[in-house]
Amino acid sequence: YNSEIQRSEKMEIISQLAASVAHEVRNPLQVTRGLLQILGEKNNNGSRSSTVSEENYYQLAIDELDRASVIITDFLTFAKPQMEQIVELNLAEEFKHVEGIIVPLANLQGGKLEVNMPRSLRIMGNSSKLKQAIINLIKNSIEALEGSGIVRVWAYEEREHVVIHIADSGNGMDEQMLARLGEPYFSNKSKGTGLGLMVTFRIIELMKGTITFKSELGVGTEAMIRFPAARYMQTNAKVI
Ligand code: ADP
Ligand code: MG
Repeated sequence: YNSEIQRSEKMEIISQLAASVAHEVRNPLQVTRGLLQILGEKNNNGSRSSTVSEENYYQLAIDELDRASVIITDFLTFAKPQMEQIVELNLAEEFKHVEGIIVPLANLQGGKLEVNMPRSLRIMGNSSKLKQAIINLIKNSIEALEGSGIVRVWAYEEREHVVIHIADSGNGMDEQMLARLGEPYFSNKSKGTGLGLMVTFRIIELMKGTITFKSELGVGTEAMIRFPAARYMQTNAKVI
């Protein structure tokens, strides 16, 4: 029992450390990327004609930096270095922030996002973690559209639970792929990390939620997340 406590304290320290590192590393990555781009362009326009392989090196370096950024995004977009707070969250507000981040991405990659969120839904959890989990799911849906289609998000209360649906008209998955979701490094994308859903599943579990998927190849995918409603958790706490 004692060693369990130590283990979770260590996990807490590790995740706080990871959050600080992510914040610190993102900036130099961006700066380096910008400099490489300038150097690459200078070399292209300069009188001295650059070799094809030299141009490739710049592009390769930029691609690798982008890859590092994607890993940080899948893991730690919203990670906050301070202690994790569990508070009552209003889903409509959380999703407003998520939309702010996802809509530009959808515009860039093609595909539409439609969010239908009643104002009254509340759950207990950590805001940064919840947003990270939802972003990873919606990002997958947008990527599955491969340029055109729609991602629909809606939610409602059902007895003591809040239920969130994220449905896309993307390329879908067969049973074997569905069974492997959340497995670290399982990815079918050339630039995927295969870490997004692993992180998402862990967060949902920590927030006492569950997630299930329905999918059909060539038709689309629907994720359904269930969290205990905040109202119910508080009532319960009062009873105890
Ligand atoms: P990544 O997105 O980096 O590949 P994820 O853990 O987020 O890693 O997803 C793992 C894999 O699951 C994806 O590569 C994709 O094949 C599949 N997948 C996840 N979500 C969807 C979806 N909405 N539609 C189709 N395939 C999906
Ligand atoms: Mg992903």
